[in-house]
Amino acid sequence: MNAAPGDTLDTVGEFGLIRQLRRQWPASSPLVRHGIGDDAAVLTPPPGHQLLVSADAFIEGVHFDRAYETLRDVGFRAGAANVSDIAAMGGRPLCLLVSMAVPARVPARQIRELYRGIRDACGADAVDLVGGDTSSSPGRIFLALTILGAIPANRALTRSGAKAGDRLYVTGTLGDARAGRHILRARARRRHPSGLSAGETFLTRRHLRPTPRLGIGQALAARGVAHAAIDLSDGLSGDAGHLCDSSQVGIEIRGNALPLSPHLRAFARRRRLDPVEFALTGGDDYELLFTAAAAHHDTVLTLARRAGVPVAWIGDVTPKRAGRRLLLPQGRAGALVPNGYRHFAARRTARR
Ligand code: ADP
Ligand code: MG
Repeated sequence: MNAAPGDTLDTVGEFGLIRQLRRQWPASSPLVRHGIGDDAAVLTPPPGHQLLVSADAFIEGVHFDRAYETLRDVGFRAGAANVSDIAAMGGRPLCLLVSMAVPARVPARQIRELYRGIRDACGADAVDLVGGDTSSSPGRIFLALTILGAIPANRALTRSGAKAGDRLYVTGTLGDARAGRHILRARARRRHPSGLSAGETFLTRRHLRPTPRLGIGQALAARGVAHAAIDLSDGLSGDAGHLCDSSQVGIEIRGNALPLSPHLRAFARRRRLDPVEFALTGGDDYELLFTAAAAHHDTVLTLARRAGVPVAWIGDVTPKRAGRRLLLPQGRAGALVPNGYRHFAARRTARR
């Protein structure tokens, strides 16, 4: 069956659409004994590995906004969020299930674009589409992706293994995606938006095309170097808090060690915003936060170099009673809270 250009979910029908998607994304890996088209997919897990499973929902109006992103962008971001969860565990992605509710008037072509974005986010890895569910929606688009990955047995990086004395590392740069979203949103409000500068293009790409850190995640897990890891989907301050909760530890982050892109610095300077605040609270960066023993510092840097990703030592893991601290210039300090940090000094003043 071939789709006419004007086809909508209404006219091609649920099963017509599924046929199109199957052709567009044929299963290729030996893992898949039976893919789309049966009541359940039949998979053969790679020998010697454990399976990783993770799900993420993407709701129009909550996680994405079609005023400034295409469905291909949305698909890419949803795919990247899922792949990043596998990266944070040190695994490799195997296959995906995509469930969606879409208004009947949405062109089938746009849904294929959505899947193209999802597939692009899986990168060079042969990640198969093995199932999903399709429903019409009375209003907005609702997407739910489930990803399966593989990890050599007992190598998974969890949030719960950090130890006091570990060093705390982060990949890439922080806060870019939030700045990019800020730029896209402001442009969508303008009737005649001006072109993007090179810096703005960088920041908006960081929002629209995040890079899951599969290579370094896999290297850290394979070498057994990292004690704990989490991917940054909500922002460093909140996600570091999850790591502390799971590991029952404290942390001390050096504000001036946070990796900031020159483009984020320029963006913040122009708008008189604090780039450190962006780095702490900016979601959707999909960088990895991980800890490793100080004795493995050189190994961490070597693995990062081989994986082709910058890694910054941003602080240390402390005993739980030391709390969650952010060190600021001139000897000041703050408490890390999920939405950024609170100045210790400001809090004292407020109490007086
Ligand atoms: P069931 O009635 O058993 O739930 P469906 O008719 O919903 O099966 O789906 C038929 C096949 O198509 C199944 O293999 C299912 O996993 C797959 N599928 C349905 N919707 C999607 C989708 N949006 N993306 C990918 N695969 C899908
Ligand atoms: Mg179904």
